[in-house]
Amino acid sequence: MPRHRPRVAEGLALLRLSHVGKRFALPGQDAHFTALHDLNLEVHAGQTLAIVGESGSGKSTALRIALGLEKPSSGSVEFAGIDVTSHSWRAFRPLRRRIQLVQQNPFAALDPRFTVFDSIVEPLVAFGLLKGQALERRARELITQVQLPVQFLDRLPKELSGGQRQRVAIARALALEPEVLLLDEPVSALDVSVQAQVLALLDELQRELGMAYVLVSHDLAVVASMADQVLVLRRGQVVEQGPAVQVLSQPGSSYTRELIAAIPGYSRSVLPVAV
Ligand code: ADP
Ligand code: MG
Repeated sequence: MPRHRPRVAEGLALLRLSHVGKRFALPGQDAHFTALHDLNLEVHAGQTLAIVGESGSGKSTALRIALGLEKPSSGSVEFAGIDVTSHSWRAFRPLRRRIQLVQQNPFAALDPRFTVFDSIVEPLVAFGLLKGQALERRARELITQVQLPVQFLDRLPKELSGGQRQRVAIARALALEPEVLLLDEPVSALDVSVQAQVLALLDELQRELGMAYVLVSHDLAVVASMADQVLVLRRGQVVEQGPAVQVLSQPGSSYTRELIAAIPGYSRSVLPVAV
């Protein structure tokens, strides 16, 4: 049972990118580099859209556009039916509570001088939502949600393992009760042995809280275990997109087939079975 009632009408995409293009000016030249061409995607409550593709294919750029950190050069971005394409930073601010990013590197995401408590509550403080005992109570709730002991609230990042730091980064992302989590290679900086545990946590949180996930990963085994929809990017172009079962079991492009064949210890068993 989702703890929160869906705040948007059933069937309405929480996040939608329509015909999004992104060009970057090349410094000192009269030319542009096109990082994204005509990207279309949408994600719904409780669902996971995976974006896969090699390094430099435009995955993080797509997330930065979704977050309003970059403006698209063409196309539009909608959040829960609201067109935010030309929103200023200030106009975007209330929506920032509803969409949060978990980065690849939990070492970079946490301020080394901040205790776990400080890191987790920072968004709540920044938005002026809670203070005093209510803030402390919420911090205990959040650390428990990511399955760490409450005593960890007093620790510094350097006293935590990589997996524990990523759990703290996830707790921080949950603080504002977002409807959409953008996960940029959330386990690729972690030891293989803890990757599965963090993914299982993300899966559990999604079922409990009903969040939509956009999961960027180059690991097709991870994608196979979590995604409902898959979008394959190559050099900013969508090579393939559709239901995960279909894309992974009957890839339509040789590029996707190569990505699947590159799964470490590749076997058919990691892939969902087409129905
Ligand atoms: P990915 O996350 O798939 O590895 P990125 O979205 O980070 O790829 O980058 C896609 C391409 O866009 C890369 O070639 C990168 O160098 C380029 N790029 C990203 N951000 C900028 C920027 N601010 N200015 C110029 N080029 C950029
Ligand atoms: Mg990236």
